[in-house]
Amino acid sequence: MFRGILPLSFLTLAMLSLSAATAAPQRPILITVDDLPIAEDRLHSDPAERERITREMLRALAKHRVTAVGLVAGKHHPAAADENLLDLWVKAGHELGNHSFSHLNYSETDIQPYIADVEKERAWLADFLKARGRRLRFFRFPFLNEGNTPEKLRAMRDYLKASGQANLPVTLDNQDWSFEEDWVAARKGRDKVAMARVAEDYQAAMRIHIRHFESGGQRLFGRPTPEILLLHAGEAGAEQWDALFNWLEGTNHRFATVDEVLADPAYSMPHDYVAEDGVSLWERLKAERRQSEVAAGLKAALDAQAAAWNRGDLEAFVAIYAEDVSFVSPSGIAHGRQEVLERYRRRYPDRKAMGTLSLEITETRVIAGEEFTFFGDTVVGRVQGATVTAIWTLTYEGKPPLTGSTLLVLRPRGNRWEIVQDASM
Ligand SMILES: [Zn+2]
Repeated sequence: MFRGILPLSFLTLAMLSLSAATAAPQRPILITVDDLPIAEDRLHSDPAERERITREMLRALAKHRVTAVGLVAGKHHPAAADENLLDLWVKAGHELGNHSFSHLNYSETDIQPYIADVEKERAWLADFLKARGRRLRFFRFPFLNEGNTPEKLRAMRDYLKASGQANLPVTLDNQDWSFEEDWVAARKGRDKVAMARVAEDYQAAMRIHIRHFESGGQRLFGRPTPEILLLHAGEAGAEQWDALFNWLEGTNHRFATVDEVLADPAYSMPHDYVAEDGVSLWERLKAERRQSEVAAGLKAALDAQAAAWNRGDLEAFVAIYAEDVSFVSPSGIAHGRQEVLERYRRRYPDRKAMGTLSLEITETRVIAGEEFTFFGDTVVGRVQGATVTAIWTLTYEGKPPLTGSTLLVLRPRGNRWEIVQDASM
């Protein structure tokens, strides 16, 4: 009798432990709420309405046991009544961070006035929090714009460090704020059909955004990365967060604290992405990763080209040139790969004339601008090309070496590179 039961129990245990081992780990997600106390002031001027919306947002967060970080912008709390709203967030256990006073676009503002505006709100919020036994720790860039020049990027990093604020990035970018106007219009008009439609569109858009940007983290790190969701303080959100949080819980997410999420090594990766428009952290890291991948790919391609030269194979040497390449040199311009090949053959008729080629790459630049998704999110654009500067050297036995510079313009073709312009001197 026992013989029959024992193997079954073992089997059951084995299956249980197998399912526990293979279940995907829950993905931690931090909820952040921008533009506290209310993002779209022009749509919500009535203090009673502002308080109602605030309480509804806090109710949705409490229902799902979310500890959020709210980012406060001075222009959104002009009245004393608004301080009471911020107080409600603090009392509910949420953390408040700095989102500047005027919500300026860093691309359109000089360094000094920008930092002064950020500092103005920091000083106010730090006092507000201190009076409540809390401390200011985080800053979020308005429009996620961290700087459109390397100098601006550095200036804000230095300022944040010196003032004890950490940049709180976003990984799950979206356009949740864009539903506010339609939602308020539908609610004011008591239009149930329109309200249901806005609600449906909000949920659908958020699901697609979250899936899309999460896959970016997965691609970068090969694992489910902890995420930071960007939401905006408003009435549409207050009405929709409960359903959104239900969906997140149902799709293997777990609400996490800011400290847990930021402790993940993905959040310590360095990046120096500079652009006119702000992008999410995964996009910044993607641009950084791609720069080194492109540099490695180009080096491999040019090394192979030099190797072809050094075994005397001119046909293989010119294979990297585009069929319609333009080759500029002190002796004129050659058009097309065939003409380039013939010129090399004339100038280097045998192995002895060719010598040994070495190429030292001095700079690689990726040509890729910003792009916008169907939904209007800014993302890092696809690689359209690259430029390389290099120093070439030909060494010979028994005679002095020849050396010069080259500037190459390349474009990707499938998984290889081809040179479309070459200026060698
Ligand atoms: Zn904002």
